[in-house]
Amino acid sequence: MMNSILEYQQCMSKPHIIILLGNSGAGKGTQAELLLQTYSLEYIGSGNLLRTFSQSDHFSARKIKQIMGAGRFVPSFLIGSLWTQIFEHIKNAESFAGFILDGSPRRMEEAEVLDEALAWYEWEQYARFIYLHISDEEALRRITHRKVCSACGHTIPYTADTAHLERCPQCGGALVVRADDKDIHAIQSRIAMFKKEVEPVLERYRSKNVLITVNGEQPIAHVLRDIEQQLA
Ligand SMILES: [Zn+2]
Repeated sequence: MMNSILEYQQCMSKPHIIILLGNSGAGKGTQAELLLQTYSLEYIGSGNLLRTFSQSDHFSARKIKQIMGAGRFVPSFLIGSLWTQIFEHIKNAESFAGFILDGSPRRMEEAEVLDEALAWYEWEQYARFIYLHISDEEALRRITHRKVCSACGHTIPYTADTAHLERCPQCGGALVVRADDKDIHAIQSRIAMFKKEVEPVLERYRSKNVLITVNGEQPIAHVLRDIEQQLA
């Protein structure tokens, strides 16, 4: 009994706040899935948040849909307000083990908003800024080779562990290349965009001495091990 109360208190007082950064194809989604299972964390993906938000019928929803369709950035104050709704909810939850913020912040302005929010919710000291690093060549190779299940939509990353797969490991469906992963110019511009917008964010956390760089070109289990070492 004492043990479980103690564990509960430790869990409450030491949440895992994981900010997962990395280029397309770095394996953020794969690692997030594995971490969620192990630590019962909340998953916060800005892409999902924005897609859900944009399905409503109001001014900002319609405008966000246009902006995202045109490949432009959603203003940081809106991203911040979506984060706030979730942060407020989990801060007040009875039991809270932590969360993974997947693929954000994407720009300096977002990083500033996020840093303010982490300070506001008193999570600063628990935050782990984890950068899954892969080279541009590797990013290009992985994106152009990754597949998606034609039946269930599950994405199969292209790594040493999964390159041989021909059927979906979850449902057995046929694997195909995603339509937007066939356009080499679009992929190259995504990689260039990452350099331009996210590199300064990485530098911000590097200069604060809080950026943890993990070699994302290792096998999935080794990447996970390196991340977990930082959570201990
Ligand atoms: Zn499937």
